[in-house]
Amino acid sequence: MSYKEELISKIIKYGKICGEKNYTPGYSGNISARYEDGMLITVSGSANGYLKESDIVYTGFDGVSKEDGKKPSSEKFLHIEIYKKRPDINFIIHVHAPYLSSFACSGKDLLAPVMAENVFYFGGIPLAKYALPSSMELVYNTAKYFVEYDAVLMENHGFVIGSKTMEDAYYKLELAESYAQVVLNTYILGGAKLLDKNQTQAILKLR
Ligand SMILES: [Zn+2]
Repeated sequence: MSYKEELISKIIKYGKICGEKNYTPGYSGNISARYEDGMLITVSGSANGYLKESDIVYTGFDGVSKEDGKKPSSEKFLHIEIYKKRPDINFIIHVHAPYLSSFACSGKDLLAPVMAENVFYFGGIPLAKYALPSSMELVYNTAKYFVEYDAVLMENHGFVIGSKTMEDAYYKLELAESYAQVVLNTYILGGAKLLDKNQTQAILKLR
């Protein structure tokens, strides 16, 4: 299997898992992998949970498809900007996972130190200001957080995460979605008991 085929099979595999977990309902979301001088990204109109090889297109960092007749996802520039900002990121997953999207749609970030494990893995998950999907404003509003964070909520939209490996990006998406569910439950139970500054700093030192 060539490196390109390996990346394509990873996108298909983790797209399917995201679908099974209901992280990426229907046509929502897009997934990419850094490849040569561009990326392999899901095509426009594809469904992440049901990807075929033909649903992935090699696209340059200028946003132009390198394969005739295949159109990359309309969020291609978001992926490109994150890859440009973060040379250590090789895989990006953008989804509309329901619990994370609930926070994004309520204009609430996940920065408060509620749960030790999430402080360790994320520091926090910030909320990027709303902009029209596929617009350059959305790219700017969202990608800028990747200077400091690996995962970002997109207001009235969804969630995006990048990592060195596809496995790590996916595992952290899973953590983040269950974290959002826990935080939502703390509202029902009268509000979270936050970790204090000393506790938070001790967790960050474990990194
Ligand atoms: Zn989206």
